[in-house]
Amino acid sequence: MLRWLLGCLLLAGAVAAQADQAAPESVIDFQLRWHHQFQFAGYYAALEKGFYREEGLEVRIHAGSPGRQPVKEVLAGRAQYAEGNSEILHQRLLGQPLVALAAIFQHSPSVLIARRDSGIASAHDLIGKRVMLMDGNADADFLTMLLNEGISPSQVNILPSSYDFNDLLSGKVDAFNSYLTNEPFYLRQQQVDFTVIDPRSYRVDFYSDVLFTSEAEVRDNPARVQAFRRATLKGWRYAMEHPAEIIDLLLAKYGVSKSREHLEFEAAAMRSLILPDLIEIGHMNPGRWQHMADAFIKAGLVKSQAALAGFVYDPRPPAAPAWVVPVLLGALLAVGAVLSVAGYFIRVNRRLLSVDAQLREANERLVANLAEISALHKQLQEQAVHDPLTGLYNRRYLDEVLERELARAVREGYPVSVAMIDLDHFKAVNDTYGHKAGDRVLQALGRLLHEQAREGDVPCRFGGEEFVLVLPRMAGDNARRRAEQWREAFAAQATRHGEIEIHCTMSVGLATYPGDATSAEGLLAGADRALYRAKAGGRNRVEAA
Ligand code: GH3
Ligand code: MG
Ligand code: MG
Repeated sequence: MLRWLLGCLLLAGAVAAQADQAAPESVIDFQLRWHHQFQFAGYYAALEKGFYREEGLEVRIHAGSPGRQPVKEVLAGRAQYAEGNSEILHQRLLGQPLVALAAIFQHSPSVLIARRDSGIASAHDLIGKRVMLMDGNADADFLTMLLNEGISPSQVNILPSSYDFNDLLSGKVDAFNSYLTNEPFYLRQQQVDFTVIDPRSYRVDFYSDVLFTSEAEVRDNPARVQAFRRATLKGWRYAMEHPAEIIDLLLAKYGVSKSREHLEFEAAAMRSLILPDLIEIGHMNPGRWQHMADAFIKAGLVKSQAALAGFVYDPRPPAAPAWVVPVLLGALLAVGAVLSVAGYFIRVNRRLLSVDAQLREANERLVANLAEISALHKQLQEQAVHDPLTGLYNRRYLDEVLERELARAVREGYPVSVAMIDLDHFKAVNDTYGHKAGDRVLQALGRLLHEQAREGDVPCRFGGEEFVLVLPRMAGDNARRRAEQWREAFAAQATRHGEIEIHCTMSVGLATYPGDATSAEGLLAGADRALYRAKAGGRNRVEAA
C-alpha cells in the first residue's frame, strides 16, 4: 500500500517536472532556408532577446545557401532544427523521418511573376511558355495549380531556377518563381509592370516557412522540442510586434545585403501571410497538411500518404494533459481517505492485502472513467459546432465563420459567396414516405455537399431542410457554376430508404461579397431573396442576388 502511494507521489513529481525547462545537452544548430533576411525575423528575435537562453537553450543560427539546405542538414544530423517549405512534407511522404513543429507562414509567399508586357495574365497563359521553378518538377503547388486548371505540366516549358531574377527582366524566361515578400520590391523599384500568378487563386493553399525537426529529436528530447518551439514562437510574436528593431539588428549584426527599405517591404508583405492578428503564430491544421499531401499525390510526386501519420507535431505535453495534475491530486486525496478507512479495517481484522487489491481495482476504474470523460468531452466539443443528423456544421458555427471570413475578405480583398439551399416540396416527401425517409434525404444532401466541398468551403445545415455554404475566394460566376453542379448532381441521384427510392430536387439562392452585400446579414438576406426567386421561378434552379 505504502509503495503504491509512494508511486503516486513520484508520478505527480514527474508530471510537475515536465513543466520544467529543458536541460540542454549541447549547442543546438538551427538551419535557415536562405540568406539572412527579415523572412526569418522570429528566430533572430528568439536568440537576441534571450528567449532561447531563458529556456536553457544555446542556439546557433546558420544561413542557408544552395549547398546548405535545411532538410539535408537535419537528416545528416548537422542541425537539430530547421525551417523548410513544403519539401519537408514531400520528403516525409517519401519516407524521411521529419516532423513539422509549427507553420510560421499560414500562406505560401511562393508565386509566379511575369512581366505585364509578356501578356501572361493567368495560369492558362503559361501554356507553351518558359517558366522557372525553384524546385523544378517537384513544386507540387505549381503543378497542382496547372492540373486544377486542366493544364498538363508537359504543356509548359518548366526550367530549373537560375535564381537570377535578371533572366525574367531580360526576357530569357516568361515567368519566374518568386516570393511575394521579395521580388515585387525590385520590380517596383525598377518600375517594371508585372502580373502575379498565385496558386491560392487556383485552390492551392500551402503552408510555408515551417519549423521542423527529426523524429529522433521528438522521441529522444521531448522537453527540448517543447522548449525550442515555445521560445521560437515567442521570438516570432516579438518580431511581428517590433519589426523596426529586428531590421536594425539585421543591418547591424547579420551582414544583410538588402536595404532598410527592402527589409521594411518584406516585413509588411509578411504580415498578410503570417496573419499574426488573426491566427496564433505557428498554428497547424491537420486538414491543411492533408490538402498539401493530396496535392503531392495529384501532381504524381508521391504514391502514398501513409507516412503522413505522425508528421504534424502535437504541442500539448504528451505525459501531462492539463487535467492530470488536479485529477492526480484528487486521486491522492481519495486514496488518503480510503487509507484511513483501510486502517480501520486493518485494525479490525488485518485484511490489508484484500483492501489493497480493492484499491487497485478502484484506481483502474478511476483511470477508465477518466478516459471516458475525456472522450465525452471531445465528443461534446464536436457536437457544439456540428449538426447531428448530417454531420455538417451547424447554424452557430456558420454565424461565427461568416463573420470571420468576411473580415478576412475585407483585409485581403477577395470575394466571398454564400449559397442558400432549400429542398423542393420537401413536405410532400415527409407526407408520402414518412419523416424517417425525409431524414435520409437530408443526410444524402449533407453527404453530397460535404463531398463536393473544396478546401476552405464551409457547408452548414442552416435549419430544417435548409443548408448554407460559405465559399471564400469565390466570385459570383464561379459560385453559380458550382451551385449548378450540386443541383444537377442532387436531381440525378435517388435516396434509398428500405425498398423505396426517393427523388428530390433543390433550389439555390446566391449572394456574393462585395457586389451584393458587405455584411453577414446582408449576404444571408440576399441569398434568401434569390432563393425565393428560384422557388417562384419553378424550383430546381439557381438564382443569384
Ligand atoms: P418548397 O419547395 O416551397 O420549399 O416546399 P417545401 O414543402 O419544402 O416547404 P417548406 O420549405 O416550407 O417545408 C419544409 C419542411 O421540411 C417542413 C418540415 O416538415 C420539413 N422538415 C424540417 N426539418 C426536418 C427534419 O429534420 N427532418 C424531416 N424529415 N423533415 C424536416
Ligand atoms: Mg424551407
Ligand atoms: Mg423546402
